[in-house]
Amino acid sequence: MSKSKEEMLKAELAEIEKKIAPIRASIHQLVALRVGRTIVQCSLCRKRSRFGRFGFVQDYWYTQPSGCSGGDYWSRTEIKLCYIVCPECSVMNYIYQHPQREQIIDLIQNQGLERKEIFSTIWEKHGDKKPEQVYPTL
Ligand SMILES: [Zn+2]
Repeated sequence: MSKSKEEMLKAELAEIEKKIAPIRASIHQLVALRVGRTIVQCSLCRKRSRFGRFGFVQDYWYTQPSGCSGGDYWSRTEIKLCYIVCPECSVMNYIYQHPQREQIIDLIQNQGLERKEIFSTIWEKHGDKKPEQVYPTL
């Protein structure tokens, strides 16, 4: 019984994927290390810390109810309008006004990492309400 060319290619690809899986995992770990070790300076106390020691505050914005079924929900605010929390003074640094803004956004957004892999703590802030810690769970 001869396999079609497509089936053979699929099998070959699956074989390659299996071989590179551990390499992908190693690269992922290295990226996580590099991101976590990147030095970021607090805008308030001016102390420099590893990025992995910071917390992250995800901001949410509210859509008012409209009509019978529209609105009344919260949406994630984009990263540049969120905050990082200094591990030294615990002050929230507004990413938008941070001198390392572009770098911070790149570290969070473009490295293929989950936020839990980057930050020591994660918080959610709904409008003017006090941020609530969501990671690690208390
Ligand atoms: Zn600080």
